[in-house]
Amino acid sequence: MSTKRTTTLAIANQKGGVAKTTTVASIGAALVELGHKVLIVDLDPQACLTFSLGIDPEDLELSVHHVLTKGLDATEVIIETEEGIDLLPATIELARAEADLLTRTGREHVIRGVVDDLAEKGDEWDYDWILLDCPPSLGVLTVAALTAADGVLIPLQCETLSHRGVGQLLDTVHDVRRFTNKGLAVWGVLPTLYDGRTNHSRTVLETISETYDLEVIEPPIPKTIKFAEAPAAGRSILATSRSSKGAKAYREVAANLVTRAGRG
Ligand code: ADP
Ligand code: MG
Repeated sequence: MSTKRTTTLAIANQKGGVAKTTTVASIGAALVELGHKVLIVDLDPQACLTFSLGIDPEDLELSVHHVLTKGLDATEVIIETEEGIDLLPATIELARAEADLLTRTGREHVIRGVVDDLAEKGDEWDYDWILLDCPPSLGVLTVAALTAADGVLIPLQCETLSHRGVGQLLDTVHDVRRFTNKGLAVWGVLPTLYDGRTNHSRTVLETISETYDLEVIEPPIPKTIKFAEAPAAGRSILATSRSSKGAKAYREVAANLVTRAGRG
């Protein structure tokens, strides 16, 4: 099936350090390897995604903040990175967007508006995938991302058993479905920082999928030191250690997402 309709995925979990940003960069790179056209959007004022792809936010005059709050066209801000992924970058200014948007009518729809505008332009702006890297909160930006998304992917670190946050995130997803985006689907949890040698990681996984009745996306992403090295190099792990276990796992996940989206 070669529909040209964009599949938009929000990568969300209000907990920090669960590998949201790593997942967006790695799956983005894997989809590009498969020949897909991909836009990734940095929605975190910390701008880790922007930085990890070799762009210093301090050098940027325009960023996603101007698109969301000043009505600037996304095409004027999108950067093509060395890996062939298009990036809508963030800077620390995005911290103000949250406050600016709070008093705006229709704030939940600001990202959906950007996605729709790009689709209407067609041609080079007609993405197969748009991946939204959510900030570690359930604030305006995350709700706007969920409102723009076809699906949400929840990275979950398998190191701890404290996953109370997942319930809150799912409550937010339910609210978004009721009020702003009926079509939002939970694509599942993606186990990250997975140590397959321990029973613990496996127990955590089973507990989560049973407790919340969520699909577990395969394969789990192994915990490996290679991930610490990639952002400093300004490239994703798919470029810095092409044949590592981590890169391989993300390629498999990407292929499974392609199947799921019917883009095979
Ligand atoms: P988040 O966006 O959820 O805050 P990040 O993607 O920034 O999480 O990841 C947090 C930290 O964990 C980063 O230093 C990253 O390099 C590291 N990390 C991510 N995935 C892995 C992994 N599979 N193995 C080891 N370290 C990882
Ligand atoms: Mg992040």
